[in-house]
Amino acid sequence: MNPVFRPLVDSLLRFWQTGVYFAHTASHPHGCLVRAIIAALVCDIPGMRKVAGFAGHSANLFCSFCKLLKNQIHNLDRDSWTPRTREGHMEDALKSSKRTGVRWSELLRLPYWNPLEFAVVDSMHNLFLNNCKNHCRKVWGMDSSDILDAIVLGEVVDDIKKTTLPSWIAAPSQNIGTKKQGKLSADQWRVLCTVSLVITLVRLWGEGGEQATSRKWLDNFLALVTAIKYATKRSTTEESITIVDDHLQLYLKGLVELFSRDVLTVNHHLSLHLPAFLRRLGPVHGWWTFAFERYNRHYTTF
Ligand SMILES: [Zn+2]
Repeated sequence: MNPVFRPLVDSLLRFWQTGVYFAHTASHPHGCLVRAIIAALVCDIPGMRKVAGFAGHSANLFCSFCKLLKNQIHNLDRDSWTPRTREGHMEDALKSSKRTGVRWSELLRLPYWNPLEFAVVDSMHNLFLNNCKNHCRKVWGMDSSDILDAIVLGEVVDDIKKTTLPSWIAAPSQNIGTKKQGKLSADQWRVLCTVSLVITLVRLWGEGGEQATSRKWLDNFLALVTAIKYATKRSTTEESITIVDDHLQLYLKGLVELFSRDVLTVNHHLSLHLPAFLRRLGPVHGWWTFAFERYNRHYTTF
């Protein structure tokens, strides 16, 4: 990626150091000085790791924010994780060692660039294309007729047909769990998990006592749904962020108790870094990748 980014970083340095004077623009016919910076790198994990100079998510040092090792991925106690530092990152980047999982990135030439604060956890990929999708397909075995089997999915589809949703929520697919369905988009996973499954599973599993296994599955899933609801609000407060953090912890601890610690993935761990970005950058609607994904889909139609 570095050869591609070199000329971009050269331009960004000019925008940072002296600014660039535009002789004529639509709103400034007599010209204006423009200064610009990169404030956040928002993309999926493979893209972010390549651009920012971190090892891939399968590396032993799998996290770009702390130094937890792959065999410690089940450790959900954030206070015990060793955070990475910008100084340490710069030293490791100059050595470009496989052992540290850090490589040189052209972005490090920008004096203000801090990969630990600017290379973010994208909520669209993390919450919808990973946590929601992983919960349905892997944890509940949607593809292998395990917990989310054909009977349950049939009930979900029946409820979808009977449900009238507000115009701003895309109608969920009625082919869930069939070969006709194909690949679900991030928004389809969002609606399926935070709307359709909640309606049906509360009806099917909510009546059992708190000790019933299906009720435990439901309560565990609703912890994820609650975290998503508060993480994706259009405004945020410290109270909302605390709710996100508490429910992500509750969800992940529940997964370990109900299934096994082997179900925990890199994305589960990265979710626990999301509250820090909610505090730093505000509501996710201003910095998630939905808009860019729409452009990607548009470009593939050319
Ligand atoms: Zn971490």
